[in-house]
Amino acid sequence: MIRIAIQAKGRLNEESIALLKEAGISIEDSKRKLLAKSEDFPIEVLYLRDDDIPQAVAMGVADLGIVGLNEVEEKNFNVTLTHKLGFGKCRISLAVPKTETYPGLEYFNGKRVATSYPAILSRFFTEKGISAEIHEIAGSVEIAPSVGMADAIFDIVSSGGTLVTNGLKEVEKVLFSEAVLIATPNLDEEKRQLLGQLLFRFEAVERSKGMKYVLLNLPHDKIAEAIEILPGMKSPTILPLAQEGWSSIHVVINERELWSKIEQLKAIGAEDILVLSLEKMIR
Ligand code: ATP
Ligand code: MG
Repeated sequence: MIRIAIQAKGRLNEESIALLKEAGISIEDSKRKLLAKSEDFPIEVLYLRDDDIPQAVAMGVADLGIVGLNEVEEKNFNVTLTHKLGFGKCRISLAVPKTETYPGLEYFNGKRVATSYPAILSRFFTEKGISAEIHEIAGSVEIAPSVGMADAIFDIVSSGGTLVTNGLKEVEKVLFSEAVLIATPNLDEEKRQLLGQLLFRFEAVERSKGMKYVLLNLPHDKIAEAIEILPGMKSPTILPLAQEGWSSIHVVINERELWSKIEQLKAIGAEDILVLSLEKMIR
């Protein structure tokens, strides 16, 4: 049995549960319970505030955790970064009132900066030789400059909308974050095996993201051209059709290039094109 800590509620909760589910692990969704067991994998889920996840994993209270890289970096506990999960993307940036002229990092010398991430900011300033006053505040960091609590802020940005609303502009992007899977260092052999199984499933889920399964019919003599259009594909599946001179081709195509590839394939004579969603890609 392995135990994974995920956020009890908040921005990472739903996607953490969805990832586990896509990996074939369903868990009771009761958020009133702190601990829930899975029926179909030897795992239990511990619901915590995201701030507490790095420590829980460092202490071995949970073997694994899903949490923002920003929290891992801020708390600086001894955990192993096992895998980036590709959701919960954001950055932590320095922002100043938009009316200020910004000459570069030296702007911050002698300034008061409000943040919920004092450790990351202090490491950054030290590294860059900047001496500023760091004021730790727990929430509503973005209003600190307008109420006179600070000259600048260091806060999470995703679209930048909140900054604009508060009359601020982003001047330095310091840390790019996303949800990551962390692990207790030195897991025992049994838990390492379960972690390996989990990672294998997560990777299969990730690979299938944005991929489509495409079936099409094509005259035999166009197959070489079709392979030109679909590079990166080692060996497409080609099946003869009952109709003489025609084949059926099966390929996996990234959604981003789906339409352009289909147009090119149609141009060389592809017909009866079926596009199916792809559930899992297992190598
Ligand atoms: P908790 O109650 O668990 O302490 P929280 O309020 O600290 O929750 P959330 O706002 O739910 O945290 O955000 C969780 C994580 O989601 C952040 O630490 C960050 O990694 C990520 N995230 C992604 N985009 C954003 C965003 N626009 N604002 C805040 N966090 C974001
Ligand atoms: Mg939190």
